[in-house]
Amino acid sequence: MKFKLTDTRKQISDIEIINDLRTVANNLAKQSLKMRDYCKANGAKYNYQTAKKRFGNWKMVLQKAKLATEKSIHGVEFGESSIKEELLIKDMISVSKKVNNPKLTITEYEKHGKFGVVTITKRFGRWNKAKLLANLEVGRNYNTTVEDYMRNVLALWTHYGRQPKYAEVVKPFSNLHISSYENKFGTWKKALEAFIEYINNEDDVTVEEDRKPELVPINNLNSKKRNPKKTLKAKRTPRNINLRLRFTILKRDNFSCKKCGCSPAKNPKVVLHVDHIIPWSKGGETVIDNLETLCQDCNLGKSNVL
Ligand SMILES: [Zn+2]
Repeated sequence: MKFKLTDTRKQISDIEIINDLRTVANNLAKQSLKMRDYCKANGAKYNYQTAKKRFGNWKMVLQKAKLATEKSIHGVEFGESSIKEELLIKDMISVSKKVNNPKLTITEYEKHGKFGVVTITKRFGRWNKAKLLANLEVGRNYNTTVEDYMRNVLALWTHYGRQPKYAEVVKPFSNLHISSYENKFGTWKKALEAFIEYINNEDDVTVEEDRKPELVPINNLNSKKRNPKKTLKAKRTPRNINLRLRFTILKRDNFSCKKCGCSPAKNPKVVLHVDHIIPWSKGGETVIDNLETLCQDCNLGKSNVL
């Protein structure tokens, strides 16, 4: 008769490890556990290597124990830094097929993918680069212009009524994903710096526009019959309120409606407009003194035939 040593790892059942993980999480009053927190010092019976070996990787460990797969400060999911690139690519292809979109968007992948979007963008540098490696189409969505990025920062700033934080760049308030900003500007802080610079530099654009007065018909119906010199009036400012002016007015008005005082920060349903006080069509200029912040309701209630 031959004796065999029992495999010591198999002496511990999956349930025992899972229960122990949950106990430690409970002890720490946490929804999730970091690898380094799963240790003897915190009352663990086993250690994180044992748990990892048993379930494959730390994310799986957390999933088995029904703990949150919390993201690290850098946004990379636990255990995902060691996942093979082929697997990441393979999963992108499979999600692309599942959602039937060869242009697979970040949002689609976030919803159906196995891994974190940040894990992929960190690994390949950019989302687009990963898409190219996966033979997926690089759509027009990714030709986002600097102005698109800036307009979105303004929308977020308006929504929160103040400088938006990293963790606040989320749907549905943000049209762009935080990793898009990171890819474009490096960090969220740098994106905000670029926004301020953009706002400050837009002055030049206004000056440029001022040099070219726009001709506007006073009476469209009879303009052909009348002497153009009499029916056309030189406008000094353009009708369009540029991003810099919008930001200036919104900030001056504390990102709230001048009439009723409501704001998206207090009520996310509120939509703010920057509006001409004397309508542009009635000769009002696009200047700070003739602009104010109104909510959509107050703006619609206001007759433009003032
Ligand atoms: Zn209002």
